[in-house]
Amino acid sequence: METKFVAPQLRYEAGSLAPVISEQTIGFHYGKHLQTYVNNLNTMVVGTEWEHASLEEIAAKAQGGIGNNAGQVLNHNLYFEQFAPKPTRNRPEGKLAEAIEKSFGSFDEMKSRMSAAASTLFGSGWAWLCADQEGNLSVAQMANADNPLRHNLRPILTFDVWEHAYYLDYQNRRPDYLAALWTIIDWQIVESRFEK
Ligand code: MN
Repeated sequence: METKFVAPQLRYEAGSLAPVISEQTIGFHYGKHLQTYVNNLNTMVVGTEWEHASLEEIAAKAQGGIGNNAGQVLNHNLYFEQFAPKPTRNRPEGKLAEAIEKSFGSFDEMKSRMSAAASTLFGSGWAWLCADQEGNLSVAQMANADNPLRHNLRPILTFDVWEHAYYLDYQNRRPDYLAALWTIIDWQIVESRFEK
């Protein structure tokens, strides 16, 4: 099998995000779900116009199964990258902090809109903090494998609200999962997405 696309190495030990995200959930979510999307994408692109394209290009433009699997690989890469067991700060600084003030009025307002978007998304999908080309921020709900690149936006922060992301640890209590996620965000990673 082609191994063009790979799941990124985790930047932390699999059990180190517990109790926010358990080692068991990382085992299934990162180890099985993400790996399946990676494997599917590697298989599906062979012999297509996407065979030599980047992940970002495929996730932004491809339709059908290839677009869905590329979107899920991209989204999960961003999701798993943005956490740390013991973040040094609980809010952003610098340019991202300024942009949040400008676009939402306050960090707490952004947080509450992001939590609301994630908790009210019907079915499977993702809540996003996105930036446009001018650096204005917005919060969006995107279903299934949809992602900001398809809307000409840059992904800054994402919450996976597919049930596989939280069901082992929180069952039906999606709001509890979302409240806990804020405590493991590595704001330096999130800031670097905005600044690049
Ligand atoms: Mn997921």
